[in-house]
Amino acid sequence: MLTASIHGSKIAIIGCGYVGLTTASILSLCGHTITCVDIDTEKISNLSQKKLPLYEPQLKELLFNASKNNAIQFVNDLKQALDSEIFYICVATPPKSGGSCDCSKLYSVFHDIVRECSNTHSLKIICIKSTVPPGTIRKLYNVVQEKKETLHVVYNPEFMREGSAIDDVLNNNPIVIAAESQEAIEIVEKIYSAIIHSNSTIIKTNFETAELIKYSWNSFSATRIAYVNELALLCRSLNADISLVIQGLALSEQLLPTDALKPGPGYGGSCLPKDTISFANVLEKNGLSSSIIHQVINSNQNHVAKLIADIFALLGTHKSQKTVTLLGLTFKAHTNDIRNAPSISIIKALLDKGIAVKAYDPKATNTMSELFPKVEYFDCPYEAVKNTDCIVVLTEWDEIKKLDFEKVSKLCHKKVIIDTRNMYDIEILKKQNFRCITMGSKCAL
Ligand code: NAD
Repeated sequence: MLTASIHGSKIAIIGCGYVGLTTASILSLCGHTITCVDIDTEKISNLSQKKLPLYEPQLKELLFNASKNNAIQFVNDLKQALDSEIFYICVATPPKSGGSCDCSKLYSVFHDIVRECSNTHSLKIICIKSTVPPGTIRKLYNVVQEKKETLHVVYNPEFMREGSAIDDVLNNNPIVIAAESQEAIEIVEKIYSAIIHSNSTIIKTNFETAELIKYSWNSFSATRIAYVNELALLCRSLNADISLVIQGLALSEQLLPTDALKPGPGYGGSCLPKDTISFANVLEKNGLSSSIIHQVINSNQNHVAKLIADIFALLGTHKSQKTVTLLGLTFKAHTNDIRNAPSISIIKALLDKGIAVKAYDPKATNTMSELFPKVEYFDCPYEAVKNTDCIVVLTEWDEIKKLDFEKVSKLCHKKVIIDTRNMYDIEILKKQNFRCITMGSKCAL
């Protein structure tokens, strides 16, 4: 049972850089007692004399007000912080020359804490804030498995931006907490209770999801900045105004806000494929031959190719004796447009291998049958799945969404499904013994 006292907890912060000092000042605001540890003796000496070794708005006041009340102390040696209940690791994780992440400082601090706390009888939480590649935290967690009664590992990545770090932590950023132990998650959540407000977003999850939230957050920001920079160069060549282009672009966020994004079988339709190809051509003519848009086109093609490879892998050998059922043919629901729909590339690839294809779509049978007369079309999804070896769900039509899987399971030859829209409850599919591939939602394969 965990015993850490939540209010007024004793906390060690290891690594007194931007993240460590920001975390220290915020946690002291939350009423905890902080020991900041850093191997850099000059840094600790400066901090002890209230000299901030970096510039960050609001940080100096917060940090040194807290140290005035003895709520924060600065030390060089981890041994002086061993009575802490929670150890936040905030050391740097720079890139190595080959591009992989150098986690050596993190590993070193982690192992020091584990060694120093190995004989403890009270609960300790090692809470990692450093940014790490997926898989890192589970490796660390596995190290302390034998000591899991007293040592818990939590990943709590940091999202602050330099220049607005305090404001970001207090007002803007999500609190992401990952652990194998529910109690450890709750303790870390409560550590922040004083700064949690009605608009706070708290995501409690597993290590891998948290690691990906952090990496994808930074890479998404980087992608958007790089895209705007490419647009600016294009504006310069074309005598267009980047600030108005951005103003127009910002409105697209209202139609497709980030939290409405959903994975699928690849984009299609009459506009996105043709306009990205044409835009890549314009960019190329203006000296931007490897633009983000070029990569987007490649990415979409690779995505459909990966889906086709997944279908082939699920069918196994003797493909020409197999049948695949496609549920949904249009590139999205509520249209009968099949132009550039991913279903077209998929049907071609399946027919090329001699695989029999059955299909159901409430609006696109006529147009698709002109393109692919060899496909067998049905007016009812249950007829389409009869004796099939693999169901591939491509469009989020309501008729397909509300399929009765108890009924489907009795009709198909093999209970194999690829749900490219993440439409179904995995538990329902599992109950009917379906082998299922989703687009990154928890998979029952
Ligand atoms: P930083 O370089 O400013 O600070 C790291 C500190 O760790 C240094 O003071 C260093 O002396 C200390 N340190 C190194 N080894 C140590 C050891 N063995 N024991 C004690 N202290 C040690 O780094 P930062 O910018 O605060 O970033 C820390 C982590 O947080 C990184 O993984 C980074 O990617 C991530 N992050 C940074 C930001 C940011 O804006 N800077 C934002 C979010 C996340």
